[in-house]
Amino acid sequence: MSGKKDHREIKEKIGLSEDEATGIRRKKTALRGGDVSYRFLVDMMPDTIWMLDTDLNPLYVSPSSKRILGYSPEERLRQHLSDMVTPETYARIVNAIAAELEREGKEAVDPDRIITIDTEYYHKDGHTVWLENRVRAIRDRDGRIAGLFGVSRDITDRRRLEDMLRERIKELTLLQSVANFIESTDSLEDVFQKTVDEIPRGLSFPDCACARITLNGQVFQTANFRETGWRSHADITVRGERLGTLEVVYLCGMSDEVGDPFLDEERDLLKAIARFLGRVVERRQAEEKLKESERKYRELSILDELSGLYNSRYFYRQIEKEVDRINRYGGSLSLILLDIDNFKVFNDKFGHVEGDEALSRLGEVIRRCMRKTDSAYRYGGEEFTVLLPVTRCGEGRVIAERIRTMFKNETFFPSPGESVHLTVSLGIAEYRPNENMKKFVHRADQLMYQAKESGKDRICVESSAEE
Ligand code: GH3
Ligand code: MG
Ligand code: MG
Repeated sequence: MSGKKDHREIKEKIGLSEDEATGIRRKKTALRGGDVSYRFLVDMMPDTIWMLDTDLNPLYVSPSSKRILGYSPEERLRQHLSDMVTPETYARIVNAIAAELEREGKEAVDPDRIITIDTEYYHKDGHTVWLENRVRAIRDRDGRIAGLFGVSRDITDRRRLEDMLRERIKELTLLQSVANFIESTDSLEDVFQKTVDEIPRGLSFPDCACARITLNGQVFQTANFRETGWRSHADITVRGERLGTLEVVYLCGMSDEVGDPFLDEERDLLKAIARFLGRVVERRQAEEKLKESERKYRELSILDELSGLYNSRYFYRQIEKEVDRINRYGGSLSLILLDIDNFKVFNDKFGHVEGDEALSRLGEVIRRCMRKTDSAYRYGGEEFTVLLPVTRCGEGRVIAERIRTMFKNETFFPSPGESVHLTVSLGIAEYRPNENMKKFVHRADQLMYQAKESGKDRICVESSAEE
């Protein structure tokens, strides 16, 4: 921007006459030769006092200018305002003056009003300094503006603190959002995607920042992700093991002189988020493990591991349900109870391990023989039951017969060179309406004993033993 051109425009707007300019020059002279104690006061002030003419040329600058901005008052008087401040500040001053002049024409405003404006000045050594300026108009006898009078205070430290505070608030807001995602019931994938999308908002230059999370081979990134030299990253570790990385990249606007554009605070922020993510993975994994062991435990508590069938506890639960159902709604229910014949002899001769193998094989045979709606249980040591809902005794007998013949055809090789066949005896009872459940089981048991007594390897239905 051309400072000179702008200040001409301002002069045109202000419309200062030659007489008025001369008036200000006189005031300047008066100040120079002024009272000694007043001068002492001005010299000692930490703030800078200044006067500008309507062309925005300095008429007076107090000595503290040297301390605050590096320029002596003499050097300052040779500069125009547009040389002293950043283009952004200069544009803001021009706009503020134009707005004030507009008010002058329209409203009954206080002619001695004080306007406060923050400006960014160049220090002689190149860096910039923020000044808070309290400014009022110098007026001629007719009340027309003849120049500006101001007091400037160095607020660089305050601005820096305010900027830092703003950055800290941004970071805290980001951490809070990430913490909320983590607390949510969203899937881990959603948590990671939402986190990368949120991260640029917490950085100094959100518009040209992008982020990426790489974890266990999965990649989550912002839509604008691209690799450049301006990258910062933090490891995501789960139980001490490095499982992934959180990266932030600046895409633009960094000159090579900037070097590393990341602040220490931003690096700490990344580390904090990476720690959060590591913890959420850890927690979700622990939850999964717990669910899995609960599921296993539930299954274990109703399953018999050796035979792969349900256990006797579950048998009583299910038979009670079936009996209840029939007593309410009617229908039929049959029960097969079976026991391996002469199993003690087999066990004694070939050992427990071989005996277990036989029990396991019988479990497989029963599973193969039953229908979808039937359920089978290891009732005791070598005794098994099969519940057959919606089944009359006669139909149950078909299933029982399948089990008997299929198990009999199984060949065991319990010791080298020896093959053995085992048999089972089976009883089948059909539930009688309102019969006590235990009595029903007892009848099936009795029928199975009848089968034993009448020679084993057979099926007994109700009161008549059959082969
Ligand atoms: P019966 O034909 O009259 O049924 O004769 P049995 O020998 O089969 O009957 P008994 O009840 O006298 O013996 C049952 C045997 O089953 C006793 C035990 O050796 C065996 N047994 C029970 N539970 C297990 C088990 O879990 N594993 C093994 N290997 N054997 C078992
Ligand atoms: Mg037995
Ligand atoms: Mg037996």
